[in-house]
Amino acid sequence: MSEDFLSVFQSGLEQLGLPQSLEEAFLLYRQELLDWNTRFNLTAIKDPGEVLIKHFLDSLSLLQIYDAQKEIHLLDIGTGPGFPGLPLKIARPEWKVTLIEATGKKTTFLQHMVDLLHVKDVEIIHGRAEDIAHKRGYRGNFDLVTARAVSSLSALLECSAPFCRVGGAIVLPKKGEMGDELVQGKRAARLLGVRLKSDIPVTLNGLDDGRRLLYWEQYKTCPTQYPRSWAALTKSPLV
Ligand code: SAM
Repeated sequence: MSEDFLSVFQSGLEQLGLPQSLEEAFLLYRQELLDWNTRFNLTAIKDPGEVLIKHFLDSLSLLQIYDAQKEIHLLDIGTGPGFPGLPLKIARPEWKVTLIEATGKKTTFLQHMVDLLHVKDVEIIHGRAEDIAHKRGYRGNFDLVTARAVSSLSALLECSAPFCRVGGAIVLPKKGEMGDELVQGKRAARLLGVRLKSDIPVTLNGLDDGRRLLYWEQYKTCPTQYPRSWAALTKSPLV
């Protein structure tokens, strides 16, 4: 089992132009994630091979559509045990990374992992994105905003756009046909000063199951009334 997944993971690193030497950090990350998971329920994916592909490689797939080998500031909203933000930090150590997560046990794990991996310039925030988005210093301050598996597209755009600088990018990984969700998302985007720039399939080995990356650009400042409360933005999404 693990051998096969490991070689798929290695080929994914190669496809992305990343060095095989990163493997060591990811194996440590996996070991700690699965160990902590027995006590704190951090992830539903418990198979060690699947962690490599469905968490780590899937997180890194974002580099297929957005890559910068210079210092940028990335925000990951609802990062859970670090996805996709922490794998991206491992791959691009020059990036500054902010991770927002509402659940304390997950931020405790993140701090442990950041210490263990000796990665610098990672800010871990225990809080809710819709509150932090209204704080000075965070609003309009990020080059790249992402969020995986947190909410519907409209809700995610409403949470993400306030953080993104004009000219910056919001990259959201999604899976399968999106139908009405994408139509609604595009309408919401207009209200938020965002437009869809590209929508590409993930083409990495092991992830050929309908995954896609939506790249939105922030073309003007997001109006100050957004984001609304979590209840409002999930129960009455912008359309
Ligand atoms: N992004 C991770 C991943 O892909 O594995 C975690 C996904 S998990 C399904 C959703 C996470 O988002 C949870 O850890 C939850 O606590 C967090 N979350 C949900 N709403 C949030 C909010 N408004 N602000 C911050 N975190 C939030």
